[in-house]
Amino acid sequence: MNTFEIDPPTDHYDVLVIGGGPAGMMAAVVAADGGKKVRLLEKNSSLGNKLNISGGGRCNITNAEYDTRTLLAHYGKAANFLYSPFSQFDVSDTFAFFENRRLPLQVEARNRAFPVSQKASDVTAVLSRALKRARVDVVFDCGVTSLNRKDNRIASVSTTRGDFRAESYILATGGLSRPETGSTGAGFGWLRSLGHTVRQPSPGIVPLATKEKWVAQLGGKTVEGRVTFLLDGKRQFKTQGRILFTHFGISGPTILNSAARVGELLESGAVTAEIDLFPQLDEGSCDKELMALLELHKNKALKTVLKEWLPNGVWHVPKMLLPTLDTDMKVHSLRKEDRKKLVKLVKAIPLTISHLMGFDRAVVADGGVDLRDIDTKSMRSKLIDNLFVVGDLLDINRPSGGYSLQICWTTGYVAGRAVAAT
Ligand SMILES: Cc1cc2nc3c(=O)[nH]c(=O)nc-3n(C[C@H](O)[C@H](O)[C@H](O)COP(=O)(O)OP(=O)(O)OC[C@H]3O[C@@H](n4cnc5c(N)ncnc54)[C@H](O)[C@@H]3O)c2cc1C
Repeated sequence: MNTFEIDPPTDHYDVLVIGGGPAGMMAAVVAADGGKKVRLLEKNSSLGNKLNISGGGRCNITNAEYDTRTLLAHYGKAANFLYSPFSQFDVSDTFAFFENRRLPLQVEARNRAFPVSQKASDVTAVLSRALKRARVDVVFDCGVTSLNRKDNRIASVSTTRGDFRAESYILATGGLSRPETGSTGAGFGWLRSLGHTVRQPSPGIVPLATKEKWVAQLGGKTVEGRVTFLLDGKRQFKTQGRILFTHFGISGPTILNSAARVGELLESGAVTAEIDLFPQLDEGSCDKELMALLELHKNKALKTVLKEWLPNGVWHVPKMLLPTLDTDMKVHSLRKEDRKKLVKLVKAIPLTISHLMGFDRAVVADGGVDLRDIDTKSMRSKLIDNLFVVGDLLDINRPSGGYSLQICWTTGYVAGRAVAAT
């Protein structure tokens, strides 16, 4: 058996943690530091596979908003539930936890905190060392297949390596996004069969696929702009920030954070989007700006001016979307009506949203166990006395920016402390 094998194998453990992602590792460390004998079961042969790819491999470990009220406003309906857990372990505790274990953090734009080393694997390494130091028995290649219930308690778990039992069980098997990392959503099924209400997960923070294929030609290019989403032609909501073109559609922070709302719209009708590359200018001012530029470069080719005017390769868009426009023509030959068409286009580049990309590309999948089923002070199930639920298994919607991992640190800590107190 591939384990840290610190103690001779014994059957008696106080706590079994199921799942070696960030929430499970944190819970195991805290429970063991609190004096409990802890075993962690992980179906992969290594810990923290999803953690290792988080933040593009850099791990956006938390969001450095130290005012809990302000931070929790980002969690929508779950904010009320989270006040109590955050009173036990908040963002400054996350900083202290990692920095005290020799992982300095730095804060970047939009309060996003990363390890100074810029390596997500360093976060996993800190937690692995802490598990070892706390004498947690980690059992790898151990897929849990069922939670066996007796009355209102878990009596044991069955795994690919036989049955295990303990006094308390912490469930930390994660959600559904990026299943190749090990997070296949098994926990949702078990929780449902134990009588919990589980909201069906849908990909939460995902890129959007478009019908238009021209986006592929801009694949990898980012622009700043405003996107307006429309349902059956009627404006619904706007978002502003960086937009990344991909080979299948659009992505980037502002798009990812809009995906859940776009998903809802897609259930009601046809969703289109308009990208405004000059949100700070109205159409008239935008036209004036273009006219001034054209005046300056009267004898140059139109494409030279477009390249100066439109950022990061986006000058291809008029070329692609206004087929009658000859971008090789000299500026002085540009007709007024074509100039107007150009302005209209850059103020509202049209896209048709076909669907949300799936779990395979999701950063977070929403859904999970209804928070009304979970005790806010301990993460204990209200239905099963010795079961605690943490991390992505909880139904907590959150944007990208370190908010997901902060939930893992906080709920893992709270469950670990609660089992240590039993
Ligand atoms: C590409 C990507 C980038 C991300 N970047 C960020 C970021 O920068 N910042 C941020 O805050 N969030 C980020 N997230 C979200 C964040 O990674 C998750 O919220 C977090 O990993 C959830 O932790 P968890 O411990 O609940 O579950 P997971 O990390 O999913 O871990 C669950 C563990 O349980 C194991 N397991 C599952 N089933 C079983 C079973 N039957 N038996 C035994 N073990 C099992 C799995 O193998 C896995 O190791 C990102 C997510 C993705 C996909």
